Amino acid sequence: VLADGRRIDSDFVVACDGRHSVVRGTLGIGVEGNDYEGAFAMGDFPDTTPYGADAAVFLTERGLVESFPLPGGLRRWVVRRDADVGAVTEAELVETIRERTGFRCGEALSWSGFHAERRLADVFGQGSVALAGDAAHVVSPIGGQGMNLGWLGAADLAASLDGGEAAIARCGRRRRRMARAAARRAELNMWLGRPTVRPERRDRLVRSLLGRPAGRVLARSFTMHDLRLGV
Ligand SMILES: Cc1cc2nc3c(=O)[nH]c(=O)nc-3n(C[C@H](O)[C@H](O)[C@H](O)COP(=O)(O)OP(=O)(O)OC[C@H]3O[C@@H](n4cnc5c(N)ncnc54)[C@H](O)[C@@H]3O)c2cc1C
Repeated sequence: VLADGRRIDSDFVVACDGRHSVVRGTLGIGVEGNDYEGAFAMGDFPDTTPYGADAAVFLTERGLVESFPLPGGLRRWVVRRDADVGAVTEAELVETIRERTGFRCGEALSWSGFHAERRLADVFGQGSVALAGDAAHVVSPIGGQGMNLGWLGAADLAASLDGGEAAIARCGRRRRRMARAAARRAELNMWLGRPTVRPERRDRLVRSLLGRPAGRVLARSFTMHDLRLGV
């Protein structure tokens, strides 16, 4: 039953109604997971960097800064906040970005705060219903893989529909493995981006990971090109 009261009458339903999925709850499917410590702020600004179409990740002593290109000459900045207090302000965001990266961002178009969490449904389907997207899995937004994971899973599910119940069940187990792998990667991103008073050890690790040939493997992993392997 949709939020507006309409009923869906269909042989097979894919429920993609988000992390608080009513469909999942109605079916009695359990969810495991946890909230992560730390708080984050993000905002969209006119792009004042020379990065163009590239993303940039800054691992600083005071914590992570991520910077992604957006259409229309804009750039999204995500920072780990110094403290989990009160609502995010534009001034806090601009100042944090300036102090940690040296970039002056100008006026924000929008800004907000968020906390990171991980959730995984016990099963990704029941009877004639399959769960997709955040209804099935939520991974930490740090590293930006949640929606991509949803799309990968949807493509896998679409390709399995003709195979009947057994193929859909196999697909559910495969997608669950993919979600676990994505959650582990997001946790690594969170770990790398935490504040630290002794960044030398972490910096050495990151340098060696980014060298060749490990760097290529890492890039494939970061961009989720290997997730279909269910690693
Ligand atoms: C701060 C933040 C940053 C993120 N950044 C990234 C990123 O850079 N890259 C990335 O890949 N992912 C990112 N994600 C994750 C991404 O936003 C989610 O994984 C994605 O939005 C999930 O899509 P979804 O369609 O499954 O769920 P949702 O986006 O939650 O959509 C579910 C929809 O279903 C609707 N709905 C619910 N119940 C009903 C009902 N009964 N009837 C009708 N409609 C209903 C809701 O209103 C909603 O519109 C981020 C998440 C957060 C919180």
